[in-house]
Amino acid sequence: MSLNLPLTVAKFGGTSLKDHAAMLRCADIVLYNPSIRVVVVSASAGVTNMLVELASRETSVSQSNQLIADIRQVQYSIIEPLSDKLESRLYIDNQLDLLKDLAKEIQVQYSLKLADEILAFGERLSSYIFTKILIEQANTKSTSVKISCIDAREIIATDSRFSHARPDLQAIKANTDVKLSPHLADNLYVTQGFVGQDQFGNTTTLGRGGSDFSAALLAEAVSADTLQIWTDVAGIYSSDPRIVTNAKPIKTISFNEAAELATFGAKVLHPATLLPAIRAQIDVFVGSSQSPEAGGTKLTNQISTSGIRAIALRENQTLVTLTSPNMLLASGFLARVFAILAKYELSVDLITTSEISVALTLDNVNGSDENENILPHACIIELEDFCGVAIEKQLSLIAVIGNHTAQHDSQSTTGHLFSSLSKHKIRMICHGASKHNICFLVKQSDAKEIVASIHDQIFG
Ligand code: ADP
Ligand code: ASP
Ligand code: MG
Repeated sequence: MSLNLPLTVAKFGGTSLKDHAAMLRCADIVLYNPSIRVVVVSASAGVTNMLVELASRETSVSQSNQLIADIRQVQYSIIEPLSDKLESRLYIDNQLDLLKDLAKEIQVQYSLKLADEILAFGERLSSYIFTKILIEQANTKSTSVKISCIDAREIIATDSRFSHARPDLQAIKANTDVKLSPHLADNLYVTQGFVGQDQFGNTTTLGRGGSDFSAALLAEAVSADTLQIWTDVAGIYSSDPRIVTNAKPIKTISFNEAAELATFGAKVLHPATLLPAIRAQIDVFVGSSQSPEAGGTKLTNQISTSGIRAIALRENQTLVTLTSPNMLLASGFLARVFAILAKYELSVDLITTSEISVALTLDNVNGSDENENILPHACIIELEDFCGVAIEKQLSLIAVIGNHTAQHDSQSTTGHLFSSLSKHKIRMICHGASKHNICFLVKQSDAKEIVASIHDQIFG
């Protein structure tokens, strides 16, 4: 039976599910809108970070025990006001017993596969608890829809790249066609974001912040009309409101601009989120679960004409400069470099070239911190075979997003932007490949100040 209403997939992030009151607000959003039939949840705020620590090689047994106790505390406090809290406690205890065994196992032999198994517990716990709260709230209203929790591993099929698995779109569609779509007329499903399963039955994860991506994949697979991303800010802002206090919410933004923003570090959306939405022409809305009445941002297909829209910041960038006198008037140098980077699955963000050198920044896919070497030693050795390799760290990438061909205050946006940059030290600039972004690399310690200063100059 098909649903006679427009279909909405709603995703709630960690802070939206941080405690009982926050979960109640999310339940109200879901129950207020009968078109929401699929709900994707993140782990409650802070839980995934604790699980990452639990899965770390450096964590001692006593630290592991403390982390599990802390996770228990977070989950217990959320279920405290529930009428059947004993059943929920039992579920949490069972899950945490399994988690304890996995934590012991990973200390003996570390693998990314086991780490993913551990990381998935955050979403497993939050989805169970949120379903309970949703059912309890629904019972106070006259809703006939049946609410249940479905294991995301039954739907989100992926490859086996543990920690950053890639979705198998055909398999996801096939799973959805059997397990979700035919039942949406009288069912509402809660499921875990971030989590998937490979063809061998192993649990996988889609990378940090991946619940947005899960929700978009599900929205595409069930042919939803709308994807709602509920978070802790009232939409996409002109910059991260935590860095720029006077950042302004953006009412509508084009998919292209939003995708560039997400790619260049605006944490509000996982970078891959918009691909499924664009492919399937799904309306996307980003809003705050704490204050849904504040409205949010609507993503549209329309190209904006209003100049600079937003400024994004991405920290922990690695700049690699490759130098070779042989590059002068020679062909094939870049092809050789890129073949080696591809072999190590490194993807390049920014690139500039001169006569004898090329400088590039590497995408930090796993969100590794600045201490981690994103360029493997073996890769450096291969590059050093034909060029000099210099590596710089502690850099941040600032991306100015918008329609840079448009006019801004009767001055070209680019000109306006460059004059606002004149007092800052810029390590590298990239402009021209896309009319939606201009990127610079700056010292990490200066980055937030520069973002705030550019924002001030451009948006006043
Ligand atoms: P969730 O847990 O809901 O997925 P995230 O923490 O992943 O939430 O993303 C929301 C955060 O993204 C905001 O609290 C904000 O600090 C950050 N952010 C970065 N850039 C932007 C931006 N341009 N607009 C809004 N939020 C942004
Ligand atoms: N819980 C996961 C994380 O913290 C996924 C998500 O929240 O989107 O990264
Ligand atoms: Mg997020």
